[in-house]
Amino acid sequence: MIEYILATIIAVVAISLALIIADKMDRIKKLHAQIDHLKTSLDEMDEQAKLIVRTDLELNKTQEELDKKVTSLYTLQKLSRAISTTLEENQIFRMIDPAYLKDLGFEKSCIFLFNEEARDFHLVLNIGYLGEDIRNIESQVSRDKETYLELTRANKTVSAISGAGLAALARKIAETFKTSSFILSPITPKEGNTGFLIVGTDNTDINLTAGDEELITIVANQIGQALDNARLFEKTWRAQQDLEKKVDERTRELKVAFEEVKLISKRKTDFISAVSHELRTPLTSIKGYASILLTGKLGDLPEDIRLRLEKINRHSDELTHMVNDLLDIARIESGRVIMKREQNNLKDIVIQVADLLSVQLKEKQLGLSYDIPAEANTVFVDASQVSRVLINIVGNALKFTPPKGEISIRCAKKDGMIQIDISDTGCGIPEEAREAIFEEFYRVDNSINQEAKGTGLGLSLVKRIIEAHGGKIWVKSTIGAGSTFSFTLPQAG
Ligand code: ADP
Repeated sequence: MIEYILATIIAVVAISLALIIADKMDRIKKLHAQIDHLKTSLDEMDEQAKLIVRTDLELNKTQEELDKKVTSLYTLQKLSRAISTTLEENQIFRMIDPAYLKDLGFEKSCIFLFNEEARDFHLVLNIGYLGEDIRNIESQVSRDKETYLELTRANKTVSAISGAGLAALARKIAETFKTSSFILSPITPKEGNTGFLIVGTDNTDINLTAGDEELITIVANQIGQALDNARLFEKTWRAQQDLEKKVDERTRELKVAFEEVKLISKRKTDFISAVSHELRTPLTSIKGYASILLTGKLGDLPEDIRLRLEKINRHSDELTHMVNDLLDIARIESGRVIMKREQNNLKDIVIQVADLLSVQLKEKQLGLSYDIPAEANTVFVDASQVSRVLINIVGNALKFTPPKGEISIRCAKKDGMIQIDISDTGCGIPEEAREAIFEEFYRVDNSINQEAKGTGLGLSLVKRIIEAHGGKIWVKSTIGAGSTFSFTLPQAG
């Protein structure tokens, strides 16, 4: 029994132990699983930490690059503003401050421009190179001028990081300019000498990038543009100086010519005046004798002599008329005729002229109408002179208008003056003669003028009288349809 109890106890204990062990084993297993899980998590965390560090590093690098880019752009802006402040070619290079280049990461720089006359490159900017070095660079560039010219023509930027095709050239440039990190960019203005800009650094920490190349290419382009502006300005300025000189010369010549013309005109007026005076006396006596003979007081005249004397008489009248006109033109031109200007009624003057010409108007069956509104009636003029103007213009209209035509006179206020338009339905005046008819002795070569008498002095006199009143005269005309002579006179009051 005891044995049975013992065995039972042992069995119970054994089972309990086995259960306990099984439980422990299970827990240990779970613990292992947890440890494994923790390990994996730790590994993952480690990976993530590494990633964070890497990302941070990359971010820092990007930030640095960004900072560099911002500084570069800012410097570029300052540099381009500096070089665009001047329009003098030499001044442009003086505006390139070494500090700007330093900000871009370079402490050395040269600019060479090709001089077409000397067929060689000339140094126009040197930053960072001393005596002997720069002299060597100058002579080396001169020796290799074809290479640099070729580069300039191709407008190609070369640098220490240039690809395989340019590697040999890059080595040569690096040797000449004694710098392992360099960028060379052509300067190609549209006008004048081209050249190149080279920048370099001895700082081995600096790694050139495509961005640096781009930046220096922009700087070279900006210099090219500044050169273009300066050269264009110089050209414009020179052209302006030349033009001013030419204008001055022409003005001087014109002044001399004008004085000469004035002198010739005065001599002509004096001559006409003197000749006319001299002609008047014999003309008066010729006309006097012819008139006496024609009265028959000195005896009867045979018919043929009487006819000839009448011709002499008529021609003397015409000649006297012409001499008087010439004298008047000369007098007005020299200012010897004083216009007796006073308030006058235009209508009165027109009516007088119409009366005077009424017989001829009737003979040719020409109608003469006038329209003079009250506000355009009072003028400040010498009535007898204005009367001569109207007689001449209406007289011409009468002469050059075929029978049954119309002549009209219209007056209106215009720009503080009174404008008088005299229109006819006559033969008209060719375009090329419309100015010349106001010159002395000019007559249009037409059938009417071939038959009718005239001196070509009437309109010349008319123009001078109107101008002496401060007015103007002009004509509009259509061949075969008629002409309108317009002139202005001062208003009264
Ligand atoms: P004249 O009448 O003595 O020839 P003017 O100086 O008065 O001289 O006129 C110059 C010329 O202008 C005339 O010969 C004529 O050819 C032209 N002319 C003037 N008035 C008229 C007109 N109303 N119609 C056509 N031609 C005219």
